[in-house]
Amino acid sequence: MKSILIIADGLGGRPTDQRGKTCLEAARKPNLDALTERGAVGLVDPIGPGIRPGSDTAHLSLLGYNPHELYTGRGVFECIGIGLDVRPGDICFRANFATVEESKGSLRLVDRRAGRIESGQKDLEKVLDGMRLSTRGVEVQFRASTEHRGALLLRGKDLSPYVGETDPHEIGAAIHTAEPIADDAAAKRTAAAVNELTRKSYELLKDLPLNQARVASGKLPANILLVRGAADCPHIPSITSIYGIRGAVIAGGALYRGVALACGFEVIDVPEATGGLDTNLRAKAEAALEGLTSYDLVFVHIKGADNAAHDHDGEAKTSFIERIDAEFFGTLVGRVDWDSTHLAFTGDHTTAVDYGDHTADPVPALFAGPNVRRDDVTTFDERAAARGGLLRWSGQVLPILLSYANQSPKFGS
Ligand code: ZN
Ligand code: ZN
Repeated sequence: MKSILIIADGLGGRPTDQRGKTCLEAARKPNLDALTERGAVGLVDPIGPGIRPGSDTAHLSLLGYNPHELYTGRGVFECIGIGLDVRPGDICFRANFATVEESKGSLRLVDRRAGRIESGQKDLEKVLDGMRLSTRGVEVQFRASTEHRGALLLRGKDLSPYVGETDPHEIGAAIHTAEPIADDAAAKRTAAAVNELTRKSYELLKDLPLNQARVASGKLPANILLVRGAADCPHIPSITSIYGIRGAVIAGGALYRGVALACGFEVIDVPEATGGLDTNLRAKAEAALEGLTSYDLVFVHIKGADNAAHDHDGEAKTSFIERIDAEFFGTLVGRVDWDSTHLAFTGDHTTAVDYGDHTADPVPALFAGPNVRRDDVTTFDERAAARGGLLRWSGQVLPILLSYANQSPKFGS
């Protein structure tokens, strides 16, 4: 038996237009409706009713883990997803290139995203990765990811995740000094290392040729690295140890690759998967079909709908859902061997267009395959899923999918 899990980020919605329809209800999606007709649907609370999910915690929960127990912070998954080898004891951070200016002895924030820097990030990475600190025995690893984003890892003895951030989040404000959040030597040592590397990143970046060129062409320089979300590495049992299967992930965004890698998935790289609205959905479907020939489970993450909803753009969200249907499911459905494959499709949370952020509303989920007891629902959206045969539950989409594939361990005797 093979399984394919597809999670469309921010898929769930609230009424957006005058007719009170959600983007999913407004979208034309013949392939998803046809799949629904031969499967079963329900509503899933990604973490639990009334819990407003982050993408990372929601994914852990949908993959069958308890984020309340395991989650240490997003930085770990960003670091793992970007290819850093995260070991026990390492401290991971989310990082972003920003623009600051010197004013009266302090560094003041001009732009948190360095003008959404679009090229040259590898030049910045080269300067920052392996930076030497006077805080003894602390090794610095840095990787740039998309636009202004990056991931930072500190390795050394006696480091702590209990350290605050340097990002003031407010234009014109002075860069924060990272403070120890715990009253111990490790937290103080880590805070000292973070403050030193923040200052040093400014010294190293400010006169870089890339930044001189940016300033000369009227762009903001990426002259400092700001960090937040300190986290140490959680212990997550792998899907192979739990189910005895091999799984692979296809995802454009480093965060989602990181979550899946931390859960024991391998990565199928799809260069045209961007993690944005311009992603190549046909290429992802082709890669998933190919992956199903050698892996027991393929997990595909599709980001775009979430981006559109954060931007309050209901039309973009609706048309991206239509593209998921036409380009991803249109490529996939006719070529899956439905005698031996189960499929699950859901979102990791609702991203409401009006609110512009994640909400706790439950999300429709669809299961199809030979062992699924079909229900009477024939369209895939929030309202129809509320009438589905699977009713409403919390998290656990992967365990349910693998149970259909007869790959779940038995609890008890
Ligand atoms: Zn999400
Ligand atoms: Zn989001």
